[in-house]
Amino acid sequence: MAYLTTNPATGKVEREFETITDAQLTAILEESEDCFRNDWSKRSIADRAAAIHRAADIIRDEQEAIAAIMSRDMGKLVGQAIGELQLSAAILDYYADTAAGFLTPKPLPDAPGATLHAQPLGILLAVEPWNFPFFQLARVVGPQLMVGNVVIAKHASNVPQCALTFESVMRRAGVPAGAYSNIFATTDQVGTVIDDPRVRGVTLTGSEKAGAAVAERAARNLKKSVLELGGSDAMIVLEDAPFEATVMNAMVGKMNNAGQSCVATKRMIVVGEERGKQFLEAMTAAMASLKAGDPLDPATTLAPVSSEGALQGLLRQIEAARAGGATVTLGGSRIDRGGSYLEPTILTDVKPDNPVYRQEIFGPVLTFHVVPDEASAIALANDVPFGLGGSVFTADLERGERVALAIESGMAFVNGPTWSTPQMPFGGVKNSGYGRELSQLGFGEFVNWKLVAIAPAGAMPPGADAAG
Ligand code: NAP
Repeated sequence: MAYLTTNPATGKVEREFETITDAQLTAILEESEDCFRNDWSKRSIADRAAAIHRAADIIRDEQEAIAAIMSRDMGKLVGQAIGELQLSAAILDYYADTAAGFLTPKPLPDAPGATLHAQPLGILLAVEPWNFPFFQLARVVGPQLMVGNVVIAKHASNVPQCALTFESVMRRAGVPAGAYSNIFATTDQVGTVIDDPRVRGVTLTGSEKAGAAVAERAARNLKKSVLELGGSDAMIVLEDAPFEATVMNAMVGKMNNAGQSCVATKRMIVVGEERGKQFLEAMTAAMASLKAGDPLDPATTLAPVSSEGALQGLLRQIEAARAGGATVTLGGSRIDRGGSYLEPTILTDVKPDNPVYRQEIFGPVLTFHVVPDEASAIALANDVPFGLGGSVFTADLERGERVALAIESGMAFVNGPTWSTPQMPFGGVKNSGYGRELSQLGFGEFVNWKLVAIAPAGAMPPGADAAG
């Protein structure tokens, strides 16, 4: 398996990288273990934070150049790439700033003498997807390097230049080889890493198939895994949702990253026949107005999807939806220009027996539903195997919160699309995975909260009174 940059805007292969040899992998594992035991976990929090802050500074200083690399690897619009880089830098800064508080030993008030100490576990393997090639790495690396763990990252095979650039940023920031290592590994080599006793945990962001394979391997080795998998997030629009702001939010929720986001608005569910017609008209006009072009041109508003393979998969799903009774209200075809561009597409009449009804559609495709009331909207939102994010739009915030709580997901937003910030946890339920990244929850996923219980010298053993 080669690691290739195939520019999605042109379809041309621009760079090719060899996978690592088994001997190189062995050396990386040795270096990581040595670095964990003798260097990184021994450094002060301030020392680790200084390197992570420097990495954030480098990302911000070089954002234009890095954005171009991201765009050539996976087709992202340059403005959105810069937004992703700023978020990535903010994540690194946030965990560098907050680690000391998080890692402070916590005495247990109800158990005198007992304290929880945060200790790192060791080497973590991170298997990451291409869609947010810097953000995905930052949300593992920021928290986990601050905890004192070290990370071996296997990035997606279509973003090799992003993978190398991130590693270079880390190295130049003063994160030593061994604390963060990129590997161009095969699937078999990923298995070898998981099997290695020095590796103490695995986190994967990607598809259900990859998640199940990696989690199964980790479980056989009695290792913890965190899975951040796919989604089919619903956006519920209640009767009183303000019209224009809701359409603008729907567009950002749907079209960010050409719809290739796990938490993209994949299904829009509008309550009320008349409002349904109005929203469909507005969404059709807004999505039709996007202009395909070179993603490096700031005037372009519609990026290609990540690859020809991804485009073909989307076309197959659209065709299956149509054959299953759906109406293609907008788009549905490839755009006649070089590269892997898909017309912004809206599907209506997607009923429960349609093959795509319960599938994730990972691209600029919206399924649009009209329902009679709130209860039907919630039932439809929950009628998928996924449970990642979701959103509800309404002028009544209490009602919004109640509906948000009724959505079966790890995250739900009222009057905003599902979004990520450094401070908020990210993750799902059902087939969207388990565990969390970011926030204190994500920070703590790979920490040994070690109990140390201290009794006074000369204390009698527990149960001594009862034993008489
Ligand atoms: P994917 O095929 O699962 O790839 C993700 C990563 O897993 C890549 O590095 C890939 O390597 C690797 N991989 C694939 N099969 C593997 C296996 N059997 N063993 C070990 N590693 C394996 O996912 P994708 O289709 O590129 O990404 C899109 C999916 O990710 C969507 O479902 C999306 O919703 C989900 N996603 C979820 C989140 C979240 O936070 N919940 C965020 C972003 C994306 P190769 O590239 O070398 O195959």
